[in-house]
Amino acid sequence: RFVPGLGTILCMNITLVRGDITEQDVDAVVNAANSSLLGGGGVDGAIHRRGGPEILDECRKLRASHYGGGLPTGQAVATTAGRLPARWVIHTVGPVYSASEDRSDLLASCYRESLRVADELGAASVAFPAVSAGIYGWPMDDAARIAVGTVRAAQTKVADARFVLFDEDAYAAFERAV
Ligand code: ADP
Repeated sequence: RFVPGLGTILCMNITLVRGDITEQDVDAVVNAANSSLLGGGGVDGAIHRRGGPEILDECRKLRASHYGGGLPTGQAVATTAGRLPARWVIHTVGPVYSASEDRSDLLASCYRESLRVADELGAASVAFPAVSAGIYGWPMDDAARIAVGTVRAAQTKVADARFVLFDEDAYAAFERAV
């Protein structure tokens, strides 16, 4: 939005949705992937099941061409979205939660890097899951605080950021964080 005297202001809407990320009608959905990029449980499993084999094919090619050692934690990379309503899947690898080591910067990096990739793609709407808050064990309130704080502070052209929360507890945690 151009505001006389101030220049261009980037405005972002943050929305919370209770539901399934694979059903979101957005430009890009973020996948809570693991570094192998070859599929897993949780969000990752759901995206590959619903999106079909095209996504996995592209992931395999990315592994071979760029990420022989796997996608590093905190980074993000895009593929097409196969049969999902979205156009792209942005795969990011969250850190496994540790009670003895603060890995918050890596979790924040997942959101920042996903938005950076979204900007590169020209994606205006992006749906995020609660990265690291499932199999990777992150306490939901802390994961929500990092997710919301990082997305809110990001310099991005993404206009619609949507957190898609699978269950009541996750939704409530994100509501508190917002
Ligand atoms: P991680 O391995 O990064 O912890 P998970 O996929 O195990 O990621 O879980 C991340 C969060 O996503 C959890 O809160 C989980 O309940 C939720 N989740 C699982 N499946 C879906 C889905 N289809 N849509 C949205 N959220 C989901």
